[in-house]
Amino acid sequence: MRIPVIAGNWKMYKDVREAVELANDIKREVYNVDNVEIVVCPPFVDLGDVCEMLDESNILVGAQNCYWEKEGAFTGEVSIPMLKSIGCKYVVIGHSERRQFFGETDETVNKKVAACINGGLIPIMCVGEVLAEREAGKTLDVVKKQVSGGLKGFNETFISTLIIAYEPVWAIGTGRTATPLQAQEVHSMIRDLLSKLYSKAKADSIRILYGGSVKPDNIVDLMKQGDIDGALIGGASLKSASFVDIIRSTSGLRSGKK
Ligand code: PEP
Repeated sequence: MRIPVIAGNWKMYKDVREAVELANDIKREVYNVDNVEIVVCPPFVDLGDVCEMLDESNILVGAQNCYWEKEGAFTGEVSIPMLKSIGCKYVVIGHSERRQFFGETDETVNKKVAACINGGLIPIMCVGEVLAEREAGKTLDVVKKQVSGGLKGFNETFISTLIIAYEPVWAIGTGRTATPLQAQEVHSMIRDLLSKLYSKAKADSIRILYGGSVKPDNIVDLMKQGDIDGALIGGASLKSASFVDIIRSTSGLRSGKK
């Protein structure tokens, strides 16, 4: 059974006061949801306070990035032991904005995913094609390469906690969502690939989230697809009302998929 994951990526929004307020608002509304894994990923400077606010709640906290070394002369970077020490449980790795603006590649994604797993954090590894690649009919090849590259050298046991997020770049922050069938096609290809790389049992156990302009009015149709196990949400996670709506719809839809 795959428990659905609804994760909010707050990107570079919300100062500490705003972040704690948002976390508190969400916590108040979803305290009784027990069939969805709820995650919020605030900016680094907010993490400590948000972790404290959400301590012992049913909402878990993730970072939006990390570095693969444990410590050292790496100005501006944040390590996995540091994230763990304040109560983080997840890290978003290889988000398209990091690939596009900060030089993230499949190789750095691979190192970060390895470091997360070795350090006991759950990686949410993001993949997805840009518009030109979709229009050229290259979506499946591009995503296949990103997934294989990100997981290079890992065995089946190692990736037990891994979460993958398929986020078509043309749908992120644009209001343009992939249709449920477009998303399902890619999710199903990723699961087939995992099956070939590892085993069917492993592929069936890994959560694959969809991301790209997910809103309260499209989450249900997306979640009805057999290989969509949740969502990574940007814009709609910045307001408690829309994020909570998405969580409630997911919770009401199913208590887990086979
Ligand atoms: C994201 O930031 O990962 C994302 C999917 O953003 P949005 O929901 O705003 O498209």
